[in-house]
Amino acid sequence: MFKRILIANRGEIAVRIIRACNDLKIESVAIYSRADRDSLHVKMATHTYAISEDPIKGYLDADLIIQAAKATESEAIHPGYGFLSENATFAKKVEEAGLIFIGPSHEVIAKMGDKNAARNLMIANGIPVVPGTEPLNSLSLYEIKKIAQKIGYPVILKASSGGGGRGIRVVFKEEDLQSSFEACKREALTFFKDDDVFMEKYIQNPRHIEFQILADNYGNTIHLLERDCSIQRRHQKLIEIAPSPTMSTDLRRRMGVVAVAAAKAANYTNAGTVEFLVDDYNNFYFMEMNTRIQVEHGITEEITGFDLIGRQIRIANGEILDLSQNDIQAQGFAIEARINAEDVHNDFVPTPGTISTYYPPLGPFVRVDSYMYKNFTIPPFYDSMIAKVIVKATSYDLAVNKLYRALNEFKIRGIKTTIPFLINICNDKDFRKGNFDTSYLENKLEELMPEITKDESEIVAAIAVALVKHFEED
Ligand code: ADP
Ligand code: ADP
Ligand code: MG
Repeated sequence: MFKRILIANRGEIAVRIIRACNDLKIESVAIYSRADRDSLHVKMATHTYAISEDPIKGYLDADLIIQAAKATESEAIHPGYGFLSENATFAKKVEEAGLIFIGPSHEVIAKMGDKNAARNLMIANGIPVVPGTEPLNSLSLYEIKKIAQKIGYPVILKASSGGGGRGIRVVFKEEDLQSSFEACKREALTFFKDDDVFMEKYIQNPRHIEFQILADNYGNTIHLLERDCSIQRRHQKLIEIAPSPTMSTDLRRRMGVVAVAAAKAANYTNAGTVEFLVDDYNNFYFMEMNTRIQVEHGITEEITGFDLIGRQIRIANGEILDLSQNDIQAQGFAIEARINAEDVHNDFVPTPGTISTYYPPLGPFVRVDSYMYKNFTIPPFYDSMIAKVIVKATSYDLAVNKLYRALNEFKIRGIKTTIPFLINICNDKDFRKGNFDTSYLENKLEELMPEITKDESEIVAAIAVALVKHFEED
């Protein structure tokens, strides 16, 4: 087994990877920017390495990270999610430096990281994809309009290199096509340094169902059931459920077979996720494959009992997968709610700041993956997700009860979070009935908005101001 692993990430996923390392008795190396020097991953790792003054650059600089791995005598690099995790050039450089990249090969990342190339590979292997096109960049507006007419509105424009819900535009009518296409290209260039944009038919009110894959380096490939990630805002997941509360055994079996076939078609190794859209008639379409650990991997761990990060490390170390498809059975239901430091009343703007009170929920079947602690100051430079609450119960209904209990127990003060909004989702009858698709949150946004309540610290501050004023006036 590896003696030491460098974690090329930060936040809750870096903490999660350190825990997997500790379980496997592997030493961990945390890299950190100046802004992250008080972060929990730095406190928890066996070794630390200050990678840069700049808040972002160090986590995105392949050469610096490899240098850090060499300097700390690490044998492998875990990329987590986001940052360089789906960057084929980084994976290649890691391999060329004689280190192990904990993930699939750079060839597979390159192939699947390009949504368009991935679609073509799936089509060639007889896997159903959403009707769509090649990149449109070389075509005239006239030609693009013709294609959209042929596919039929609404259509969705997507950046080939996109991710994290970025570089996506839904177009409902021809008048909006040009401006959406331009905006999509601009966003793609800014975020992904590649402005290739293609078009798909927009599936109305679908469910987002994804299958977790594990594959070793010797051709053994299995899936670890599905997650329903339909509760999304602006194409980003907020709540995920495993297994899907509405899926039939037959559909699960059929989609599972296709998910494994998709991974095999890509020569996939390590952990990955095959994402599908499922329409009202239970037709399902391959959407993309994420070649990394997913934010929501924890719910799969809870229902299957397998440590996915541990499995990633063991597969990268050359172990044979000692599981077959029949070993994978769901025990109950798990739900994850992503807690974001955001102001829901102000268009979900990030709310970095100092956490004055921090009491995470505990008790049976409640897990919190986070990098928070009391008096920690959330830096403003990163993702606004600060914690994931993961609960488990014997039925979906009981899991919703459990999530409600856990979210109510979670006390974070000093900053605004999305917890009150998530609590309202738990109380919504459609959510509880499993009656939702990817349009759910958009349709219910107003209804689910929590009442504006002042944070205790704000109240205290307001009283102090009032008192000072009172005495000044005296
Ligand atoms: P998941 O299903 O794991 O939530 P997301 O697509 O939401 O997947 O992305 C997970 C994290 O990775 C988010 O923080 C997101 O911002 C980031 N991310 C995803 N894809 C990219 C990308 N291509 N470039 C940069 N960051 C990305
Ligand atoms: P990302 O890489 O950002 O995760 P995806 O291609 O996975 O991008 O799409 C993100 C989300 O956008 C999906 O979960 C789904 O809700 C929506 N979406 C993507 N493609 C379509 C489509 N063809 N029809 C309807 N919704 C779509
Ligand atoms: Mg996706």
